[in-house]
Amino acid sequence: MSNNTIIIRYGEIHLKGKNRGVFEKKLINNIKYSLVDITCKLVVDRGRYRIVDYDINHQNQIVEKLSKVYGIHSISIGLISKSDIDSLSIACINGFGGGSFKVETNRADKSYPLTSYQVSAQVGAKILNSCKDSIVDIHNPKHIFYIDIRSNDYSLVYTQIVKGQGGLPYGTAGRGLLLLSGGIDSPVAGYKISKRGLQLVAVHFWSYPYTSVQAKQKVEKLTLILSNYCPDISLYIVNSTNLQQAIKQYCDDEYIITILRRCMLKIAKQLTIKLNLDCIITGESLGQVASQTLDSLNVSNNAIVDIPILRPLISMDKQEIIEIAKEIDTYQTSILPYEDCCTVFMPKKPIIHPTRDRAILNENKIPNLNELIDEAVNQTLQTTNQKIVKQLN
Ligand code: ATP
Ligand code: MG
Repeated sequence: MSNNTIIIRYGEIHLKGKNRGVFEKKLINNIKYSLVDITCKLVVDRGRYRIVDYDINHQNQIVEKLSKVYGIHSISIGLISKSDIDSLSIACINGFGGGSFKVETNRADKSYPLTSYQVSAQVGAKILNSCKDSIVDIHNPKHIFYIDIRSNDYSLVYTQIVKGQGGLPYGTAGRGLLLLSGGIDSPVAGYKISKRGLQLVAVHFWSYPYTSVQAKQKVEKLTLILSNYCPDISLYIVNSTNLQQAIKQYCDDEYIITILRRCMLKIAKQLTIKLNLDCIITGESLGQVASQTLDSLNVSNNAIVDIPILRPLISMDKQEIIEIAKEIDTYQTSILPYEDCCTVFMPKKPIIHPTRDRAILNENKIPNLNELIDEAVNQTLQTTNQKIVKQLN
């Protein structure tokens, strides 16, 4: 059996008290699912997990996959060693090409006969003796050898700590409906909120032929990218053409976006109930555009009651959002130049401070609004409209 191992540390679950078992179980399942295509084994090792029994050629791929699993704080590629100084030194020297270094030791098992400091000093001395171009530098070393003494029998030795996603295991915070537009913001909103454990179903409002087939494909691509983080995410497409035409025909020009937002939320609310979800998520950020002023958000909120609307980006600047979009790899897809349905029906001068009363007056001008909404919901729920991007097994 190889002594290669990948060490997985988890973060916030430590705070979970009595519920910790539930979170751990979910995290283990999510880790296993992320590695389902790779032959390997997960072992539980007191307060952390390890991957063992894998082909060394898959090592980087495993780390890459684990780096997208919520709830993991950090990851290291390491070696399993015996806990005596000679074995630990050999594990450190293995593959070391020289240069400045330091050794940092941690003892999980305090019954080990040497202190952490003594282990670091003795292993450091052996490395110095064996690698002629090496030098100890405590303050600014090029290489750090981390020694984690798990017990008198075995230790872990590693040199790098890769940052994980953090957050909470996917699927531990309920399920929500993400309004996914194809722009930069909403995929980031989905990413941010699912990182807190919320499971996602996505919905896109599509007004063909005013918006193109490519616009829909773009949203499918974004959903696929999000599935790296949210493995079971699926996408529903709402055909909003009739609704948008009616809004354009009957409503005051400056209220078109306000009414469209409210109608989207009314449809989203029905879908949320029918799909047994707990909340709605949007990519809105305070003051970003006319439809995202406090008054606009308030008039939107008034369209539905009893379902929470979460806006994970509410306090974020566009630049901050763009940076996350680049990190999670949605940015290049989001900026593809295919029109969103809102852009096509954009009024000349959207209202910045709408009121609920005028919104309702405008809605009442549309003769069959409720039917249009129900029709959109029913069409959407036909199974052919749902695109399962990946299926959890
Ligand atoms: P985004 O970059 O997400 O498109 P935006 O800054 O362009 O956001 P708006 O177009 O005003 O903002 O949309 C605000 C939010 O409304 C979006 O973040 C998204 O959650 C939702 N939304 C807008 N258009 C659609 C759509 N066609 N389908 C689904 N949701 C939408
Ligand atoms: Mg948009």
